[in-house]
Amino acid sequence: MVKVNKDLCIGCGLCTSLAPTVFEFDDDGKAKVVLDDADAAAEAVASCPVSAITAE
Ligand code: SF4
Repeated sequence: MVKVNKDLCIGCGLCTSLAPTVFEFDDDGKAKVVLDDADAAAEAVASCPVSAITAE
């Protein structure tokens, strides 16, 4: 299950660029998960600068 920890997210937009099918910006300017696809999210999980994304 792909999750974004909004307490950590700084809204950099990396995940939404790397995996636009999985992540979108929420109204608060932070990322949210719109498709629970751990494979598609893998690069974003590894690249998030604040390690806010988990995929179990
Ligand atoms: S890559 Fe990380 S910090 Fe950047 S928008 Fe996505 S969850 Fe937030």
